[in-house]
Amino acid sequence: MQVFECIIYGLDVPLSILNTNTPPVAPADALQHGKLFDSHGRQIRDLRLSVTDRCNFRCVYCMAPDVKYIPKMQLLTLDEYIRVIQIALSLGIEKLRITGGEPTLYPHLDELLKEVGKMGLKDIALTTNGSRIRGQWAQRWKSLGLNRVTVSLDTLNPQRKDAITRSQTSLQTVINSIDALRDAGLTPVKVNAVIMRGVNDDEVVAFADFAKEHEVDMRMIEFMPLDAGKRWERRHVVSAHEMLEQIKTKHDVIRENDSITSTSMNYRFKEGNGRIGFIASVTQAFCGACDRMRIMADGTLRPCLFSDEEWNIRSLLRSGASDDALRTFLINTMWQKSDGHQMNQEGFQRPQKTMSRIGG
Ligand code: SAM
Ligand code: SF4
Repeated sequence: MQVFECIIYGLDVPLSILNTNTPPVAPADALQHGKLFDSHGRQIRDLRLSVTDRCNFRCVYCMAPDVKYIPKMQLLTLDEYIRVIQIALSLGIEKLRITGGEPTLYPHLDELLKEVGKMGLKDIALTTNGSRIRGQWAQRWKSLGLNRVTVSLDTLNPQRKDAITRSQTSLQTVINSIDALRDAGLTPVKVNAVIMRGVNDDEVVAFADFAKEHEVDMRMIEFMPLDAGKRWERRHVVSAHEMLEQIKTKHDVIRENDSITSTSMNYRFKEGNGRIGFIASVTQAFCGACDRMRIMADGTLRPCLFSDEEWNIRSLLRSGASDDALRTFLINTMWQKSDGHQMNQEGFQRPQKTMSRIGG
């Protein structure tokens, strides 16, 4: 087997685990911007960083029960994550979302937050399943510089919770986490629910009640073809329009003025706190304003969630590449970002990887 002397660890590792692919070279003017632009004129300002592909849940719409994790050696180290974020920041990234897998399983989460908290980013957010938030975690995260947290919660029914997440974490544990995060000021706390026909679409109005009662932003997400079981079919999708109509049977809601890059269509209640939002990736794609890039736990850069085109930065990081070389790699990669997903066109190929791997 061909081996490669790994500079950092001094180990002989199979060449095959060092992903050495490089993106096509972007035109010279892309490099001159000194910012991350794609070839469609969109500036990339939002980085979603998956710090682990591990998870303690096995949500039916996301992860396989017998998932094969990325070997530990291929995961970026804390220093490598920090370096990549710094490089991205120098290219105009303003917002960071730390995700996974389940990011609270990442052993260096506090150290990472401490470092990124000092970088001067405009917004630092984290997405979690809310199963592991203990004691003073929320206050500590806040003091380290975290601004906001999103928690996933797909049902308000305890038995259904076990069935959807294929885990034993109680519903009350997750609700307590949501309340603790809100009370610690990591606001607005967003609560994500993936709505699936015949599974939890009878809870849409209850989710709106929950938003009011717990003073959170409840976001109902159209089920996307990113499940490990590859069972997604269009008939399982409940459209944002249908959800809104259901909610209007009980609540008076007012449309908010969303920012141009917002992925959700947001509403507030005529009376009371809390908000609701809809992420209509399937029925009303928002690709035109997409300003995101994703980096997976193994250093794979993915310009578009729904495109399997991706390039890995790990071997560059581990071969002593200069900051300029890393910057060029990011610029070239983001230039390749596709203009949008083809989900509503014939011949659409669903992505090979799941959301737990890519980072949601
Ligand atoms: N484990 C954390 C959690 O569940 O919040 C963070 C990672 S998870 C992959 C991020 C988000 O992706 C979650 O809110 C989850 O609901 C969403 N997600 C996963 N698979 C999805 C799918 N097939 N369709 C829509 N959203 C999905
Ligand atoms: Fe884990 Fe989050 Fe995927 Fe559920 S949605 S399996 S909690 S990564």
